[in-house]
Amino acid sequence: MKEVISQIKAMKEKLNKWAKEYYVLDSPSVDDTEYDFVMNELKELERQYPELITEDSPTQKVGGTISEKFSKYKHEKPMLSLGDIFSWEEFLYFNKQVSKVTGTEDNEYFAELKIDGLSISLNYNNGKLVTAATRGDGVIGENVTTNVKTIKSIPNTIDFKGKVEVRGEIFLPKKEFKKINDQKMLDGEQLFANPRNAAAGTLRQLDSSIVAKRNLDSYLYYLIEDEKVIKSQEDSLKEISRLGLKINNESRLCKTLEDVKKYIDEYTIKREFLDYEIDGIVFKINDFDLHEKIGYTAKTPKWAIAYKFPAEVKETKLLDIFPTVGRTGKITYNAKLEPIKIAGTVVSAATLNNAEMIKAKELKIGATVKVKKAGDIIPEVISVIKNEEYDKLPVWSKNENCPNCESLLEKNDGEVDQFCVNFSCPAQILRSIEHFASKPAMDIVGMGGRTIEKLFEENIINTITDIYKLKDKKDQILTFDKFGQKTFDNLIESIENSKTRSLEKVLFGLGIRHIGSKAANILAKKFDDIYNLFSASYDELILIDGVGEKLSQSLVDWFEIEENKNLINELDDLGINLKYTGNKTSTDGSLFGLNFVITGTLNLSRDDYAKIIENNGGNVISSLSKKTNYLLVGENPGSKLDKANKLGVKIISTNELKEMLGEKYV
Ligand code: NAD
Repeated sequence: MKEVISQIKAMKEKLNKWAKEYYVLDSPSVDDTEYDFVMNELKELERQYPELITEDSPTQKVGGTISEKFSKYKHEKPMLSLGDIFSWEEFLYFNKQVSKVTGTEDNEYFAELKIDGLSISLNYNNGKLVTAATRGDGVIGENVTTNVKTIKSIPNTIDFKGKVEVRGEIFLPKKEFKKINDQKMLDGEQLFANPRNAAAGTLRQLDSSIVAKRNLDSYLYYLIEDEKVIKSQEDSLKEISRLGLKINNESRLCKTLEDVKKYIDEYTIKREFLDYEIDGIVFKINDFDLHEKIGYTAKTPKWAIAYKFPAEVKETKLLDIFPTVGRTGKITYNAKLEPIKIAGTVVSAATLNNAEMIKAKELKIGATVKVKKAGDIIPEVISVIKNEEYDKLPVWSKNENCPNCESLLEKNDGEVDQFCVNFSCPAQILRSIEHFASKPAMDIVGMGGRTIEKLFEENIINTITDIYKLKDKKDQILTFDKFGQKTFDNLIESIENSKTRSLEKVLFGLGIRHIGSKAANILAKKFDDIYNLFSASYDELILIDGVGEKLSQSLVDWFEIEENKNLINELDDLGINLKYTGNKTSTDGSLFGLNFVITGTLNLSRDDYAKIIENNGGNVISSLSKKTNYLLVGENPGSKLDKANKLGVKIISTNELKEMLGEKYV
């Protein structure tokens, strides 16, 4: 018994730690399969020893703790989790339990996709969105109203008298997830593990302008109205849709168990073709009258179940482990795998991050490993198969030298990553030139991967300043394979154009540690000119909103290096603009980065509204396109309204604009 108690304690500790990382920090350290595995083991132990079940066991409570960043919101009705099952046999068992109450095994289920996002509760009063809150621990959630108001598919007003609560899921479409992670990669930031974490991390941002830019989306699936007019889940969804909220159209009524099975089989295949991530299917008893009869546990309704797709895990051979050097000198280890098809695509490589992670997983070159696609997107080596063959393989050891320049790698105390600290390391130089020319930096079209590599190999480009001397190397470049006069002319034109980019692009392009595109923007706006930034002290920098200790120190250190000063002077001599030429509005305005079009007759002039929007960081443009975030409408809006509807642009009134800005509405 003593052993069982300590086993249970260890499991609870593990699950609580993982839950905090997942729900509060939005940064899980293990994947869901591992979490679910330990959770099921704990459930099994608690089933055998029910006397050991405590109220605070992870099996008995919803979600995790809430973040202090947001004000708290108490849900009128608890927001519960769902029980889960992983096979058809388990579904039949669940149905049997339900039939004990309904008196029949022929239960009618409403099948919905289980959207892999985070749950949201939207509270409308007399048609107006009053609060939006996360699930939190089920009773108390986080008030994220300001952020939710930036989500295009969630209307600020609906056609409903009295109070109504609508619940559903906020998620990030797969392509938006990819976009965010691509940007994070460029900024040298840690990537989101999967779309669910990216959505949660985004919605629980304090800066609503970031939320607005990330294109979160929503599907709503519960309607809680006091009158209880609606009698089934099917009708509930119809009403949610009528109110102008978004529902998922893949849902279906399953009248028989055969229909349920068919739905599972169908979506096990279709899931990979959806634009958003799902982690299962939710089956809900359709008839609301039965819900109260079937009842609830403290954590889940007993009338619904989540059928979770087993993660597609495959075994393959780990052919090699090789390190690569990033532009900051950071070493990333990669796995070369024997190609294998997982969830529809062929996987032949995966990132292993750092040496510590490889050691923790006890990987060896030549061993058989289990691979899955995390969030069905990023391939991940989960574990190694230990067998006789494994035992014979040599233990893997990390690289002590840079794979490119051979200099000794360094690791700071308390950090897991190794770094090549040789500033003249060719791999770092190449990566930093690539970064300088990339779209978010100087945006030099035609200066991508292979071209830069070739120019570097041929010794034509060795530093970023060499980019601006390319026109003198025409004869040599024209001898390159597939590099004709036209390609050359276009490249030179693009290089010339890049000279006029605003300061933040240059700053970001320089690849100074900890300076991503957002920080570059803040600094460029604040200092106007690179020479002003040059002379800024640590004490001055640290006082700026959005500029932290690491960033300030990194900047001061960078500008102290003689070579860097020379680099700036040379860029200046070559005619590269080093001044801020963008719009001088605040970066922390809540409309920052959002595009508005104004139409119709308003109570103030359009110029006045344009000023309000621009003062808060937004842009006002004259014509509608997919890039427009909001159409601000007055009376008699004309054809722009139709066009906005067709393009899916969010339409707002001047009052809604006022609400979005709160005190900033000046
Ligand atoms: P859950 O995600 O398994 O199921 C409940 C949730 O499903 C609801 O709260 C709702 O938000 C969502 N949902 C999506 N579509 C729905 C629909 N159509 N109808 C109803 N609900 C729908 O349960 P949970 O309690 O939110 O989280 C537990 C899961 O989270 C675990 O099974 C695990 O996979 C994951 N988790 C992972 C870690 C980790 O460290 N990797 C840690 C904690 C939890």
